[in-house]
Amino acid sequence: MMKFNPADEVQDLQYFGEFGGVNPSISDSSTYTFLSAKTMFDTFEGNAEGCYLYSRHSSPSNLYLGQALAAMEGTETANVSASGMGAITPTLLQLCDSGDHVISSRTIYGGTYAFLKNFTPRFGIKTTFVDITKMDKVEAAITAQTKVLYCETVSNPLLEIADIASLSLIAKKHNLKLVVDNTFSPLSVSPVKLGADIVIHSLTKYINGNSDTVGGVTCGSREFIDSLKNVNSGASMLLGPTMDSLRSASVMKNLRTLHIRMKQHSSNAMYLSKHFENDGLKVVYPGLESHSGHQLYKRMINPEYGFGGMMTLDVRTLEKANELMELMQSRKLGYLAVSLGFYKTLFSAPGTSTSSEIPLDEQKAMGLSDGLIRFSIGLDNNIERTYQIMKECMIELGVL
Ligand SMILES: *Cc1c(COP(=O)(O)O)cnc(C)c1O
Repeated sequence: MMKFNPADEVQDLQYFGEFGGVNPSISDSSTYTFLSAKTMFDTFEGNAEGCYLYSRHSSPSNLYLGQALAAMEGTETANVSASGMGAITPTLLQLCDSGDHVISSRTIYGGTYAFLKNFTPRFGIKTTFVDITKMDKVEAAITAQTKVLYCETVSNPLLEIADIASLSLIAKKHNLKLVVDNTFSPLSVSPVKLGADIVIHSLTKYINGNSDTVGGVTCGSREFIDSLKNVNSGASMLLGPTMDSLRSASVMKNLRTLHIRMKQHSSNAMYLSKHFENDGLKVVYPGLESHSGHQLYKRMINPEYGFGGMMTLDVRTLEKANELMELMQSRKLGYLAVSLGFYKTLFSAPGTSTSSEIPLDEQKAMGLSDGLIRFSIGLDNNIERTYQIMKECMIELGVL
């Protein structure tokens, strides 16, 4: 059998629009008619396959995009949502009742961290944050109430690698659901193939790749996705973070070039990180031998897509980091902006931006230093030229 390749799964999908178009038609409707009242009842009950009821539940465009993302992740199905947080929060609320417990990596996206730390306790859901790279710490945190093990494949912003196969063994042993946010590593890593139960993406980042919208997806079993969408008890259906059809059609068109973009992001980031490491800078990039998770990541990835486009540089102080980012922006190297996966390089200081939800002492404990700059390396055509200009900026500011 051929090895699973996520981009081939997306490539093999074929759609026919209403008039034979090569793109599926966009359904510009919030509600749908029924020729018989009986079919409407059956649809409400979830027993009328192929019938649409109301677009908060499903729309043809969202189902097409969901199918494509499920194919990419190797799951039975998927549910797209209006943002990454709109995928993460209903998924966790669907899996946990009041009194339940979550074990989460301590280095996760700031919004997810804030949700688990500040918001879910209001509903009696408690979270223990652990160093996800230490299996003994993970296992020691499990209680009789634990339902979910939550992590990011490549963590934000420290780029730690989660050993998904080992975590899945722990999850199976204790009957937990392993939920993996794969936003930083689409195509490169296929978490379900390594044993994860549910995979989440913020489509806002690499998958859409154009910084023109937010979006999200939860990929999982048909049983779980149906439960999310249940009209009486589904967190996605009842909280309502639905993506608009026009937007999901647009995201789907961008998904088709993801494989080409990921290869370019990865090779550019590899080039820069190797060169800056040789120059003596403190670089963190999972593709470098010096990265503590490098060997593990190498075993996990679909190698042709590389180690991704995320890299961090530590320039020691926040002041230097800010100066450097402003200078790089003025030299047209990219934007001082949060988010990732754009054609231009994006940079920000995570301590003061995307991870500012994490208290300062906890940031220190996890190795998030003030002078850290997080880069999402762009699709630059000539990365050697980019490197030279970046280096000039660093020399000018005495960072190099
Ligand atoms: C951006 C991001 C999210 C949140 O996604 P939104 O689309 O901004 O809601 C979740 N996880 C990770 C890893 C992210 O980078």
